[in-house]
Amino acid sequence: MGEKSAERADAAGERAAPVEGPRPLEKVKYPMRYRVLRAVRVEDASPSVRRVVCAEQGERIDSRGLVGEYVRVVIPPEGSRVLPEPELKGEKPVWPKPSPPTRKYTVRRYDPESGELEINVVLHEQGRGAAWARALEPGDPVHVLGPKAGYRIDDGYDFYLLAGDETGLPGMARWLESMPRGARGRAVLEVPSLRSRQPIDAPEGVSVEWVVREGAASPLAEAVVAGGVPEGEVFMWLAGESGAIRPLRAWMRQELGLAKGHGYSSGYWKLKEK
Ligand SMILES: Cc1cc2nc3c(=O)[nH]c(=O)nc-3n(C[C@H](O)[C@H](O)[C@H](O)COP(=O)(O)OP(=O)(O)OC[C@H]3O[C@@H](n4cnc5c(N)ncnc54)[C@H](O)[C@@H]3O)c2cc1C
Repeated sequence: MGEKSAERADAAGERAAPVEGPRPLEKVKYPMRYRVLRAVRVEDASPSVRRVVCAEQGERIDSRGLVGEYVRVVIPPEGSRVLPEPELKGEKPVWPKPSPPTRKYTVRRYDPESGELEINVVLHEQGRGAAWARALEPGDPVHVLGPKAGYRIDDGYDFYLLAGDETGLPGMARWLESMPRGARGRAVLEVPSLRSRQPIDAPEGVSVEWVVREGAASPLAEAVVAGGVPEGEVFMWLAGESGAIRPLRAWMRQELGLAKGHGYSSGYWKLKEK
């Protein structure tokens, strides 16, 4: 237990009350939004990731800068970059059947002044989302649902431990860039090659470590565990391939002993057996 969990006198000074540690993470829900944005820049963030910057004229999307905000991009039919107009039922768009697929992408950056929204799409071998990002050109419409929620994470942890792959990177990078500059921690990021590293403006006390995936086995869990158990009140954030996250989720509970609400873990995609 850190200092914050020590006892202190209450406001009246008459009896000791337990000092609360960091508050557990809080999920903040936003109203459902559907917007048609326009791609303004489509470029390589790294050899394996496409940066898509889109913007909206007029009304803004509802991004509040909380951790883990993501949008659902509605993907146009194969071979086309344009989606038919949906029927709107309130804020909910409904397309003729078969409904177009959607894919989740994290808000990497949002500028409320210009209305620019950036997502980073991993260009893996197959998949409608990856193909959409490959084919997208500036000027194309980008149909976006959400974001529908974000997480508020207390600034009072002694140590922030973040781990994930390139799908988790946009969320982690956005969070690291907005963290109080005095924060301490470690971010371990898995990339397919060192050329896929991206600049991240993390607080000085948070190390950013890159690990390269070679072959089928993910090096993520081994790299994180090798760093040992940090001291003090820890928050852990895990986002990446389900199988790579699984052992770390167990480690988070068993070795770090984190209580519910003091860690987050999500399998962002699943490696299919070939
Ligand atoms: C909350 C949340 C936030 C996310 N944020 C992002 C983000 O910011 N950027 C991002 O790129 N992804 C992000 N993802 C993951 C993304 O939604 C999935 O990777 C999605 O499956 C990609 O769709 P697809 O059409 O390209 O591939 P799919 O049609 O879903 O899959 C086709 C095949 O590709 C494989 N595959 C899927 N994703 C990957 C991958 N990343 N690498 C290698 N193989 C893959 C699958 O195993 C499958 O065999 C997020 C997921 C969640 C849940």
